[in-house]
Amino acid sequence: MADKRDYYEVLGLDRNASEEDIKKAYRKLAKKYHPDLNPGDKAAEAKFKEINEAYEVLSDPKKKEQYDRFGHAGMDGNGFGGFGGFGGGFEDFDFGGIGDIFESFFGGTGFGRSRSRTGPQKGADIKYSMEVSFEEAAFGTEKEISVNRMETCTTCGGSGAKPGTSPTTCTRCNGTGQIQYKQSTPFGHFVNVKTCDVCHGEGKVITNPCQTCNGRGKVRKKVNIKVRIPAGIDDGQTISLRGEGEAGTRGGPSGDLFILIRVRPHPLFKRQGNDVVCEIPITFVQAALGTELEVPTLDGKVKYNIPEGTQTGTVFRLRGKGIPFLRGSGRGDQYVKVHVEVPKKLNEKQKNALRAFAELLGDEAYEQRKGFFDKMKDALGM
Ligand SMILES: [Zn+2]
Ligand SMILES: [Zn+2]
Repeated sequence: MADKRDYYEVLGLDRNASEEDIKKAYRKLAKKYHPDLNPGDKAAEAKFKEINEAYEVLSDPKKKEQYDRFGHAGMDGNGFGGFGGFGGGFEDFDFGGIGDIFESFFGGTGFGRSRSRTGPQKGADIKYSMEVSFEEAAFGTEKEISVNRMETCTTCGGSGAKPGTSPTTCTRCNGTGQIQYKQSTPFGHFVNVKTCDVCHGEGKVITNPCQTCNGRGKVRKKVNIKVRIPAGIDDGQTISLRGEGEAGTRGGPSGDLFILIRVRPHPLFKRQGNDVVCEIPITFVQAALGTELEVPTLDGKVKYNIPEGTQTGTVFRLRGKGIPFLRGSGRGDQYVKVHVEVPKKLNEKQKNALRAFAELLGDEAYEQRKGFFDKMKDALGM
C-alpha cells in the first residue's frame, strides 16, 4: 500500500478530468487489461486491479473528494465505510467473463452474473497415447491399459466427511458459496458477487474430514481398463471412452478417456487409406520369363503369377487383401509393385554370357527403346 500510484495517473488522466473522461479512460483500460484477454499475464492482472481500484474511488463523488483532498492517506484510514473492506477482499476477486463487466455497464440486469460453484461439475478428461502394430490396427484387438485417475472416495461416497458425519452449511455465505459486495460503475452502484473465502464456493464446510481422502471426496487410483481397438483404425485416430476420465465433483459425471492411436510402421507394408502397398524386387530373368511370386499379405503368403515380359514398376492388385473398413464391412485391396533388380558385381564368365545373349537378342527385341530412338530421330533429325 506504501507506494501506490496516483489514481489519476493510473487512468492516464489529469486532476481536471471530468466524470465522462474517467468513465471513458476506465472502460478503455479495463478492456485492455482484462484477465480474460490476457490469460496468465500477472502484470496485466495487477494492472487490471489497479485500474479497478482507481475507478472505484474516482467514480464515487464522495470518495473522489476525499482522495482529491488527502490522497492515498485518506483512503487507507477508517473514514470510508466499506471501502477498506473492499480493498481487502479484492485479492479474491472472482473475475467474471469480460462480458459480465461490460454487460453490467451497457444495459445488463445491473447485477454481475453470479456463477455458482456449488452445482455438479464434470470431471476432467484424460488423454492417453497407445502404440499398436500394423496388424493390430488392421484386424483390431483388445488391450488393457493402466490409468492413474481420481475416483470418488468409497469411504465417504464423495462427500469428504467422515462416515457418520456430514458437511455443515457454511455460515459465512449461508451455503450459497458466494458473498455479495457493492461495486460502482458509470451507471451507479451494483451488487456483485465473489466466491466465499471460507468454503471456497462449496457452500459447505467439513468439520470431520474423511480419513481416506482427507476431506477431498476423491482418491487417486490406478485402474486397468480394457480397450477394444476396432479393426481398420488408422494412425492418429482417437478412441473415446465416455465416463472413464477423472471423477466429477458434487455428483457430476466423470470425464472421458481419449486414447490416441499410434500405428507402428511395418517392414513390408505401407498403408494408403484402406489399401496396403508393398514393393517386391524381382530378377531380370523372372521379369523376362514370368514366374510364380510368393507375395506377403496381411493374411500370410499367397502365390501370384506374373506374366513373361513384366516391366519394372508394374503394379498388380490383390483384391480384398487390404485393411478392413472401420465402418461397414469389406476390405481394401493390396497393391504389389514389382521392380526389376539389375545384378551388380558380375564376374567375367557372367558378363560374357550376357554379351553372347545380347548378340543373340539384337536391338529389335526392345520395343520401348526402339520407339524412343525413332521419336528422337524424328524430333532432332539425327
Ligand atoms: Zn473420503
Ligand atoms: Zn461459504
